[in-house]
Amino acid sequence: MDNYSQLVERICRSSGLELEEIERRVEAKKAKLSSLISKEGAAQIVAAELGINFDQERLKISELVQGMRKVNVIGKVIKLSPVREFNKNGREGKVANLVLADETSNIKTVLWDTNHISLIEKGKIKENTIVEISNGSIRNNELHLSSFSDIKESKEKIDKVIAEKVFHEKKLSETKSGEEVMLRAFIVNTFEPRYFEVCPQCGKKATNEECQTHGKIKPIKRALLNLIIDDGTETIRSVLFGEQINKLGLKNEEIFSIEKFNEKKRSLLGEEKLFTGQIRLNSFSNTNELTVQEIKDVNPNELIKELEAKG
Ligand SMILES: [Zn+2]
Repeated sequence: MDNYSQLVERICRSSGLELEEIERRVEAKKAKLSSLISKEGAAQIVAAELGINFDQERLKISELVQGMRKVNVIGKVIKLSPVREFNKNGREGKVANLVLADETSNIKTVLWDTNHISLIEKGKIKENTIVEISNGSIRNNELHLSSFSDIKESKEKIDKVIAEKVFHEKKLSETKSGEEVMLRAFIVNTFEPRYFEVCPQCGKKATNEECQTHGKIKPIKRALLNLIIDDGTETIRSVLFGEQINKLGLKNEEIFSIEKFNEKKRSLLGEEKLFTGQIRLNSFSNTNELTVQEIKDVNPNELIKELEAKG
């Protein structure tokens, strides 16, 4: 859901008005202001006029967006990293990282306040604890808690949480090595697949029909494919393995025959996909590469919405 739809839904929840009524008010407000403001801005005014104060409202994790402040959420701690001490520019302190999840999503949460961190050190907040957070802020897709924020254990129950890693769509020009990202990009070039052999038992690389762990084996042939993708800000070399190559629409016979691959190659150029993976520095070429973990088609509904928003 985009920001506008989320906002309208929240106005619905808080005001008890029908969705159509709120949208009618938003349109009216926009018309009155000679379309000088966005739909989102108009919705904010409608909310303010209805006396809705989002400061106190609790949000779902999927609703959190960059730049939000005074954020209130409730979630389950699904991962807790050891507390770290830092010394930066003469300033000493501690920082704690955890992953907070609810039924809609999860988010990396960073604690900077020693009182909050002591809750972790004393074991009052641990993995699986349900916590209530108030007055957090969103920076770089992370929830940050300062000394103005509050975190405490909650008695509420959350049954099912989203524990899988959530990737955020980013622009290539904003990424750095080590980051896990989702990019919407076009395939602008492809290279011929390369082949290697793996052990059928452990999946590790095999050389001369031999596995380091399992000795003499009958290896399985695997492929890797390099692509250059472009998201409008930059290009990056990407590495795909196994079924991710199939997701480009290639059959195994087209992957394992250079000749058939080359016949098919042209149809890949200009294809737009969502690529999820990790940016890694290739120390040999000293450039960043994307190791692709997942490829998805671009959702046509999302595209239509975007085009409508532009037009
Ligand atoms: Zn093996």
